[in-house]
Amino acid sequence: MDKIELHTHFSGCIRFKTLQELIIRQFGQNQEIDFQKCTTLEQCFKLFGKINSLNLKLEDVRRIADEIFQDFYSDGVTYLEIRATPKKGQDFDQLQYLNAISEAINQAKFEIKLIVAIDRAKGIDEAQKTLNLVKQNKIQHLVGVDLCGHPGQGHFSQYKPILQKFRDLGYKITVHAGELVQQIEENNDVIEFQPDRIGHLIYFTEEQLKKIKNLNILIEVCFSSNLFTTNMLPISHPVQQFISQGIPIAICTDDTLCFNTTVTKEIELIKSTFGYSDELISSILKQSLNYKFKRE
Ligand SMILES: [Zn+2]
Repeated sequence: MDKIELHTHFSGCIRFKTLQELIIRQFGQNQEIDFQKCTTLEQCFKLFGKINSLNLKLEDVRRIADEIFQDFYSDGVTYLEIRATPKKGQDFDQLQYLNAISEAINQAKFEIKLIVAIDRAKGIDEAQKTLNLVKQNKIQHLVGVDLCGHPGQGHFSQYKPILQKFRDLGYKITVHAGELVQQIEENNDVIEFQPDRIGHLIYFTEEQLKKIKNLNILIEVCFSSNLFTTNMLPISHPVQQFISQGIPIAICTDDTLCFNTTVTKEIELIKSTFGYSDELISSILKQSLNYKFKRE
């Protein structure tokens, strides 16, 4: 069974031990994180706060990337798309950051592609900068763009013109959508734009789901992440609805660090929650292979 991962964030997949080591190096022993897995949303924000406050060196980025790719490989993943928001550090700029990830991809033992992420909480100017970065440089392995970040901030429509420009350059589009109940209306704008894939989609209307099916858009399901951030019961997760209505899905981790998960764990969790057969799971995985991003 080919395991693929289409929705995972670079910063959310750092090995816990590595993160701990980098935190201690920068802030000292008393600043270490005293939990292995987030069990509250507060812990999650604490973790991301720490990751974002790290003043990394280029060699750290390279190490983090190598370890992430090793971990997915050990889990049996044969194809990975990793998404990353361009960052600066002690001795690197945004382009060097993306290039360091690309170099690690060159050394990996399996196929990996890169998706550049636009954080909707950082505003339109930063998004424009990311577009310029991509336009002016050849970034190896780059196949698509993702709109991510705090769903309570900004609106999809603000980022639409920039996403369209990425599309015009031949890049595929994925959008985080329907993560909050108040985003249901925003979903209409997202669907009208016809992204190639949509991430999460926990909140939606029947009408929206019908359109998604007709447009052949794949939903990147992040089961553990959704259960954790919404307190939804596993059995109530809409993945069951997607599958029964024949909507293509991919089973994804979102962040292996925060949710202490792997692609294998996510597959097993969905399988056991809904009592799905091996045959059904394997046909879902097979179908998701058709939705890999490829630059046109
Ligand atoms: Zn995500």
